Amino acid sequence: MVDLFSKLKENAALLWYEKTAYCLLCGNVSAEPVCLICQQTYFFPDLPRCDSCGKILAETKTRCRNCETGKGPKRLDKVTCLGHYKGAWKELVQQIKYKGQPYLLASLAEMIIPWVIRSLPPPDLVIPVPMHRDRLAQRGFNQAEVLASIISRQLVIPYQNLLDRMKDTIPQTTLGRRQRLRNLRDAFSVKPDYSDLREIVWLIDDVVTTGSTLEECAGVLKKNGVKKVYAFCLGAGKEE
Ligand SMILES: [Zn+2]
Ligand SMILES: [Zn+2]
Repeated sequence: MVDLFSKLKENAALLWYEKTAYCLLCGNVSAEPVCLICQQTYFFPDLPRCDSCGKILAETKTRCRNCETGKGPKRLDKVTCLGHYKGAWKELVQQIKYKGQPYLLASLAEMIIPWVIRSLPPPDLVIPVPMHRDRLAQRGFNQAEVLASIISRQLVIPYQNLLDRMKDTIPQTTLGRRQRLRNLRDAFSVKPDYSDLREIVWLIDDVVTTGSTLEECAGVLKKNGVKKVYAFCLGAGKEE
């Protein structure tokens, strides 16, 4: 009998408690979804982020040079990113996005959740950056929505997909700063059926470059009565 129980216990441990066996980034054996070496290489857990645009900073300060000189977003109360958008981390985020593998985001939840709660004040609501319906029809899912709903579910914070993307904007990466702003003008709005917006929100996107997309969304939310907009994304640049 004792033997049978210990055998059952062993099996249960295998079924329920065995963690990811391999690092999602380098493929080496790892108990975490991303191994410690890759965490140091891509996530820089000890380095600060620029409060306005989320860029990873090499020294202790709260703004990157760009935001310090007034060129960054201004309507976001704080932005944080999980990792440096390059190399294997960039490839994984792109794989999730372009190869239709949103389930990978669920494997990353145990890294994402502690980071967000440590970095941002608690919100009333989690909102994804929307995708234009044509692009959504092409890709089949919005990775920001998947990410936001995972965060909402794990932390039991209400989720609402309440922003609309009116214009199918040209990819921001192909444009200069002034063109980016023009490209995004009036691109977002609050869906007409949402009137009661909460005071503090987390805005979720996969990647941030200049922060102008998040900035536009924050502007729309604040115009509709939201007091604080904090943003989280998976990847951002790093100031050298
Ligand atoms: Zn690794
Ligand atoms: Zn910045």
